[in-house]
Amino acid sequence: MAAAARDHLPAAGLDEADEAVRGTCEDASVCKRFAVSVGYWKDPYIQYFVRQAKERKAPEINRGYYARVHGVSYLLKAFLKKTECNCQIVNLGAGMDTLFWRLKDENLLPRKYFEVDFPMIVARKIHNIKSKPPLSKPIMESHSGESLLIDSHSLDSSRYSIIGGDLRFSSDLEEKLKKHNLDIQLPTLLIAECVLVYMTPQQSANLLKWAASTFPVAMFINYEQVNMTDRFGQIMIENLQRRQCNLAGVEVCKSLDSQRERLLLNGWETAHAIDMMKVYSFLPQADVKRIEGLEFLDEKELFEQLMQHYCICWASKDSSNLGNVLQGLEGLASITF
Ligand code: SAM
Repeated sequence: MAAAARDHLPAAGLDEADEAVRGTCEDASVCKRFAVSVGYWKDPYIQYFVRQAKERKAPEINRGYYARVHGVSYLLKAFLKKTECNCQIVNLGAGMDTLFWRLKDENLLPRKYFEVDFPMIVARKIHNIKSKPPLSKPIMESHSGESLLIDSHSLDSSRYSIIGGDLRFSSDLEEKLKKHNLDIQLPTLLIAECVLVYMTPQQSANLLKWAASTFPVAMFINYEQVNMTDRFGQIMIENLQRRQCNLAGVEVCKSLDSQRERLLLNGWETAHAIDMMKVYSFLPQADVKRIEGLEFLDEKELFEQLMQHYCICWASKDSSNLGNVLQGLEGLASITF
């Protein structure tokens, strides 16, 4: 659907479209839980957020999630290292992501970790946190000071905060984050893992512009579709449309160049984008060999095509030059993960 048409949908149409977008949260976390259960990577927390998949997921899907989780994790750890964890992370459209708990286990918590998602998703996540001690305990352990604030659509502790909101309205977003003690002077990492594609190009541009103009020192990591104008991309779009899920922002997912361009046009100083096949080839090969032994992959060509239709992009800015916090991160373009 064209961006303009979507912007003028009646409220009921938008609700339905948003419901389908919210449904992608369940899809992503069920796939992650399945891949974890096969042994692709370790995540002791995902089991508390989603049910186990009823059917096996295909090996190419599991390998894709493996590359996605490791690729994003590589970049975010580079940021944490560079800032010595003296920073904050804002995970946009976090869904049931378990990153906070995994970072705590590794002793890599930033000063504060924020998550934002639709209020309905946040309510579900908070319900899980409240009812499952392996999730609530680490939040309590990292909390100090006054009592922890919690209601059905938000939770605020000293190190972890989760906020219900719509990312398409960045002014609301800033106000809500500030109520939860966002510190715009701290180096800030923003993550959007498979999220921007569900907004119109104008809406994602507004979000990126807001982030670039708000934080003097920041990095943005974006994982999403790319090369979507070819036949394979069209099939991906049709499959999602059949489930009433429109990729409102697919226009920006034309190529790695269009992905980079969006970041540079919206206030970011440096921008990189690589497709997931490349990410896969950069990952530590001993571990890649291990996971390749977990399941037999019949459809090698399908796997490669799938990986060429997703990418990781990252951008940075350091306008205050506060000790060149991000200097060197640009060099990640020539990385070995
Ligand atoms: N980032 C998580 C992950 O990778 O596991 C979830 C990915 S899921 C594909 C997309 C998430 O973005 C969903 O949880 C959805 O509710 C959220 N989302 C999409 N558009 C949003 C918006 N306008 N405001 C808030 N959340 C949004």
